[in-house]
Amino acid sequence: MIKFLEKLLNIIYIQSCYFCKSTKDESIICKDCYNKIHFLPPSVLRRLNNSDTYACCIYDGIIKKLIRDLKYNNKKKLAPLGANFLYEYIQKLNLNSDYVIIPVPISKGRLKERHYNHMDIIAEKLSKLTKHKTEKNLIIRIKDTKKQYKLHKQERIENIKDAFKINTEINLQKNTPLLIIDDITSTGITFQEIIKELKNAGYNEITAIALSTPDIWN
Ligand SMILES: [Zn+2]
Repeated sequence: MIKFLEKLLNIIYIQSCYFCKSTKDESIICKDCYNKIHFLPPSVLRRLNNSDTYACCIYDGIIKKLIRDLKYNNKKKLAPLGANFLYEYIQKLNLNSDYVIIPVPISKGRLKERHYNHMDIIAEKLSKLTKHKTEKNLIIRIKDTKKQYKLHKQERIENIKDAFKINTEINLQKNTPLLIIDDITSTGITFQEIIKELKNAGYNEITAIALSTPDIWN
C-alpha cells in the first residue's frame, strides 16, 4: 500500500521538463533542452547612445517558447528560468556593483489585456538572484505601440518613437547605474529610445540586456 502511494505521489510530483515533457532530470528544463539553447558570448551586441547593449541567447526553439508562453499564455512559472539565464550572463559582464534593475514597461492598455508585465516578474526573480534592487516605475510607456514583430524595420522605428518617458516622481540618484532588461532585442530601437530618455533625464550609466535576439548577424 505504501509503495503504491509512493508511486502515485511520484507521478503527481515529479517535475517534468516544460519543453519536452521528459521526467529524467526532474527539472523544469532537462539537460537535452538546455543544450539546445544558443547562448551568446558576453560581448556587446550594439552600442546605442553611448551605452552597451547585450543579448543572452538567440531567439529560437526553447527560448522562443519560453518567452511566448510567459508573455501570452500566463506561464509565470517560466520567469525564474528566464531570470536565471540573465543572471548567468550578467555574471560574465563587468557591471558596476551598485546597479538597479529596470524592466522595460508595457503600456497601460496592454497591462489591462494581459494583467501582468512578464518583464516585471523576471526582474523580481533577477533581483533575488543578484541582490540588486528593481525599480519598475522609472520608465513609463506612454504610447500604446503595435506589436513590434509584425512590423518592418522603418515601421518599428516610427512605432516606438517617443513611446517612453521618465517618471520624475521616482527618487533615484542620477548617478545610479541602471541595468535595463527586456525579452527580445531585434533592431535595438526599444533600447535606443529608453536610453535616450534616461540620458535626457540625467542618468548616464546605462547598460541594457535582452534575454534574446533574433538577428545577431545583421
Ligand atoms: Zn526537455
